[in-house]
Amino acid sequence: MIPFNKLHLTGKELHYIQEAIAVNHLSGNGSFTKRCHQYFQDRYGFAHCLLTTSCTDALEMAAILLDIQPGDEVLMPSYTFVSTANAFVLRGAIIRFVDSCPDHPGMDVGLLEPLINERTRAIVPVHYAGVACDMAGIMALADQYGLFVVEDAAQAIESYYIWPDGRRSPLGSMGHLAAFSFHETKNISSGEGGMLVVNDARFAHRAEIIWEKGTNRSAFWGGEVDKYGWVDMGSSFLPSELIVAFLFAQLESLEDIQATRMRHWNQYHDLLAPFEQQGHLRRPYIPAYSTHNAHMYYVLCSSLEARTALLAHLKEQGIGAVFHYISLHSSPYYAARHDGRVLPHTDRYTDTLIRLPLFYDLHDAEIDEVGAVMAAHWQ
Ligand SMILES: *Cc1c(COP(=O)(O)O)cnc(C)c1O
Repeated sequence: MIPFNKLHLTGKELHYIQEAIAVNHLSGNGSFTKRCHQYFQDRYGFAHCLLTTSCTDALEMAAILLDIQPGDEVLMPSYTFVSTANAFVLRGAIIRFVDSCPDHPGMDVGLLEPLINERTRAIVPVHYAGVACDMAGIMALADQYGLFVVEDAAQAIESYYIWPDGRRSPLGSMGHLAAFSFHETKNISSGEGGMLVVNDARFAHRAEIIWEKGTNRSAFWGGEVDKYGWVDMGSSFLPSELIVAFLFAQLESLEDIQATRMRHWNQYHDLLAPFEQQGHLRRPYIPAYSTHNAHMYYVLCSSLEARTALLAHLKEQGIGAVFHYISLHSSPYYAARHDGRVLPHTDRYTDTLIRLPLFYDLHDAEIDEVGAVMAAHWQ
């Protein structure tokens, strides 16, 4: 039995949780939160980070910060997690879903411009599988039309966008705002967890207020004001120090975690090459403008029927392979609200994509077994 995902423990989690208890501060915004914020600032140059209880929360903060109003339009891929859309739907926005690229599930930037009108407020690229969207194209459109960009970088820690001139920017550092996830299924995890990154300094002050229930409590603790009170809308977006202590242990092992996941990813990639040559599947395509972070190893089957058969066979053989998103534009909640455009590539990824087991403690022999089970399926 090879599960799809297994939580990896670095060994320091309980140590840091005990430390958090010992300093007698378990609510949010304590010393571990500050250490994590510092870690992200040092490693990726993020000027303002705010840990949240989930990426969903970080996206909801982004929608509040952008002051999204009922009837505003937001552009995003249909091939994504519901939270990407929900955050804006909660503020009354209309979602204009954009098709995926022919060669990878990221949003096709070439389709954006005809969808922009006077009600359009924001573009939300999703870096699927830690593979960047075409950020040069997105940022140019945002500049030209005065739109905000919120990167859904939930899956994108430690991956980079490569600009046409060769410079590299960490995913999550380019949009006005960005959201990361530390959910159990992500590379770095605290069970549930997330982070808002504020790259546009205009949002930094208000982000702290929204984070702290609409109060200026952060400024109070920082000594900038002598009393705190209710100054804006907000909610309780900050995680407990217990959770953040766990996260800090994971961050300290980031390089080891990434190196190991990358090794697994490359093993799959080599192992499955013959199946691609035989026409049974397609392996992930990484565009020249992106790195990837071994967040996911997926394959594309030739049809829904082929995928159903392969998934059934893998399941029978005890391999926890799974499909992924069901297109949001045809979901029970949004289908009637969608503007009716057909999104053929989104639907194709919905029908044909399979994610294979990929987690730190996966053994080389288990990856070989996945390959052998696939080989037997096509024999
Ligand atoms: C995981 C994920 C989310 C949600 O993250 P949570 O931390 O579970 O709220 C949002 N968007 C994408 C693309 C994701 O993969």
